[in-house]
Amino acid sequence: MKYKFLIERDKLKEKPQGELGFGKYYTDYMFEMTYTEDEGWHDKKIRPYGPIEVDPSVMVLHYAQETFEGLKAYKNDGKVYLFRPEMNAKRFQSSNERMCMPKIDTEEFINIIEELVNLERDWIPDSEGASLYIRPFMFASEKNIGVKVANKYTFLVSLSPVGQYYKEGINPVKIYVEDKYIRAAQGGTGFVKCGGNYAASLIAQQRAEEMGYTQVLWLDGKERKYVEEVGSMNAMFLIDDTIYTAPIDGTVLPGVTRDSVIKLLDEFDVKLKEEHFTIDFLIDMIEEGRLKEAFGTGTAAVISPIGELGYKGNSYIINEFKTGDLTKKLYDRLTGIQYGRLEDKYGWRREVKNDHC
Ligand SMILES: *Cc1c(COP(=O)(O)O)cnc(C)c1O
Repeated sequence: MKYKFLIERDKLKEKPQGELGFGKYYTDYMFEMTYTEDEGWHDKKIRPYGPIEVDPSVMVLHYAQETFEGLKAYKNDGKVYLFRPEMNAKRFQSSNERMCMPKIDTEEFINIIEELVNLERDWIPDSEGASLYIRPFMFASEKNIGVKVANKYTFLVSLSPVGQYYKEGINPVKIYVEDKYIRAAQGGTGFVKCGGNYAASLIAQQRAEEMGYTQVLWLDGKERKYVEEVGSMNAMFLIDDTIYTAPIDGTVLPGVTRDSVIKLLDEFDVKLKEEHFTIDFLIDMIEEGRLKEAFGTGTAAVISPIGELGYKGNSYIINEFKTGDLTKKLYDRLTGIQYGRLEDKYGWRREVKNDHC
């Protein structure tokens, strides 16, 4: 054990019974460490999950210097796996660099997660579609209400046993194409996993929900013309025999699921166009019957079919609001690899060994 400092709970919690939902339950323990310019990362510990005390003047509460990650641990036959955690470690480094926040090395990031997950392995559900969601996050914890880069940070990792993300499961969702508000612009933080992006996007999400949609599809920040991504997922569209998806060039979040799907497409002999395309083109393709399938990709929902797009007061149904064959095939292959049921020829899986200490 690397983080020997374990503050034990007096009593472990009851494990949840029945529906897990998403983010409703948290495990017994969390990881915490602190960064200061003088000491670097220090005071590393695993401690009981619970409230943390912060001063009202910690900078994150005023200026939102905060970043996060999201990945999962999967359990099957008593074995526990992570999926490409080095990708999350690297993306966290790039997010933190953009936000002027300190770096955590890839090896340390993965070690922390493995140790915490191993400690909490009894919490990992093994029912269909369920997993342990891992939430690493960092925030400015210096007390100061002047606007500047903070000199003190807190890093935490919490764990939450989760069921399927959308109550629809692997059934299609309705997505609203947002043509008023924007999520990201060139030079901004679109490629960064930071809380601020989400704070600014909630108004569109709320509006979409009021109209009966699950999430929004964002258009580019300059012309509101080019298709970017869905709220917390990258978006892919099967037109004829080619998948269209927006490129990663500053405004779109570089998803681990997106990257994995792209590799599988090659294996499935599906062509890929990683280029800018307009919402008008997409609507034309629906009307001409050439848009065969649409889906979002992200760790939380894995692959989420899009059955309907709402745009400027019109509604467009995709693939008769059914889950497409390619969508299903990608979902089965990806989850098969994640849960250790299928061969992992890309070396994406990483087993969390059960080393009792
Ligand atoms: C996290 C996230 C994604 C998906 O990334 P994964 O690594 O596949 O989970 C897509 N878009 C946004 C805005 C995100 O925050």
